[in-house]
Amino acid sequence: MPDTTLPNSWDARAKAHSFFGFTDLPSIEARGTVVLTHGEGPYVIDTEGRRYLDANSGLWNMVAGFDHPDLTRAAQDQYARFPGYHAFFGRMSDQAVMLSETLIHVSPFDQGRVFYTNSGSEANDTMVKMLWFLHAAEGRPQARKIVTRGNAYHGVTAVSASMTGKPYNSVFGLPLPGFLHLTCPHYWREGLPGESEADFLNRLVAELEELIANEGADTIAGFFAEPVQGAGGVIPPVDGYFDAILPVLRAHGIPVIADEVITGFGRTGAVWGCESYGFVPDAIISSKALTAGYFPMGAVILGPDLSDRLQRATQAIEEFPHGFTASGHPVGCAVALAAIDLVLNGGLLNNVNRIIPRFEAGLAKLAQHDHIGEWRGRGLMGALEAVRDKSTKTPFESDLSVSERIANTCTDHGLICRPLGQSIVLCPPFIMNDAQMDEMFDKLSAALDQVFAEIA
Ligand SMILES: *Cc1c(COP(=O)(O)O)cnc(C)c1O
Repeated sequence: MPDTTLPNSWDARAKAHSFFGFTDLPSIEARGTVVLTHGEGPYVIDTEGRRYLDANSGLWNMVAGFDHPDLTRAAQDQYARFPGYHAFFGRMSDQAVMLSETLIHVSPFDQGRVFYTNSGSEANDTMVKMLWFLHAAEGRPQARKIVTRGNAYHGVTAVSASMTGKPYNSVFGLPLPGFLHLTCPHYWREGLPGESEADFLNRLVAELEELIANEGADTIAGFFAEPVQGAGGVIPPVDGYFDAILPVLRAHGIPVIADEVITGFGRTGAVWGCESYGFVPDAIISSKALTAGYFPMGAVILGPDLSDRLQRATQAIEEFPHGFTASGHPVGCAVALAAIDLVLNGGLLNNVNRIIPRFEAGLAKLAQHDHIGEWRGRGLMGALEAVRDKSTKTPFESDLSVSERIANTCTDHGLICRPLGQSIVLCPPFIMNDAQMDEMFDKLSAALDQVFAEIA
């Protein structure tokens, strides 16, 4: 525990001048801030020299670990060559040209175009503006509503937070009008007593049909979905979900956007989450693993239909009035090229598929615990949901903060994992070996035993 009484401790200095986001202030009051200095493989090291196995790959993104020489070298070389440029006025770096070619090549699309941002939130925001622009240009100015799902996470800008289906955004007076949320496709939690999975799915399809009928298909600009919901608690959809809902959306001409900010580049065992679920969206939103977390960057990857239509609509008014100063930053593009090569050709995706069975077995074993209601996940993203009563799925009382306690206990034992609602989320880096995977589950198992003994 850092000595928080010292005014010049890292903890005190962090608290004095850093405004914390997504951080529980009572927790850091009690426990102090963890200030990190560097990383080694999947481990991070703090100012006190303590090592933590980061079972969340930072924030889902550091898939190659924290010191990969290919990525740091790609950045260093590009900084030496051409350290920054924009993508306005018909100019862009050679790295941006090459990355767009590569992204279309590795995408499920045979043709298309890419637009760069600095984050996943901005990429979703950009996609919404593209849809608003496109529909207006094609004579449907009323087509502005955006449909997402409960527990969706699409980011934090005013638009992407409105797309996010989490109650905490009410403190900002969000969502904005016209952002509609369907039921989260989580059978274990959302299924009614006695309702089969197939009936649950039918109910979700009927809900979507009803929403389209009530709102009017011509008022809907697009549908966004994470193939596996990430920050909502690692929620794979009920079986058959995309096969059932996509035809409804397509029948009404509603564009389907896959938010692959977490699932993109190998997390589910395929290059894209949509591949794992057997569908091709109209566009893909990418960020996080795009640069393996070594540079802030996001991308809107447009499939052929949206790409052609947006190109036509832009030609009609001569320019698409949108872009960020650092869009298509040459260092970000160079790092992304190296990261994609490393994941697809350098053995990382192979390692993901090699360790998925060990990961699933570890989750399934911990789920035998009396106070774990279910394990869920897909590929190398998983969650364990804590419950007071397994048979009735009754959660622990919220003032017990069960998942925070488990995560804090893990931190004390050198493992970083993430509490989300009443679940613990694991999202290991793609470089993890068997021994590190075992270390992760051993430490988590000990923390579960300790916390459940305290509160059960
Ligand atoms: C993290 C995330 C975002 C937002 O990305 P930022 O880079 O944090 O803005 C959007 N969508 C999904 C699915 C995410 O997981």
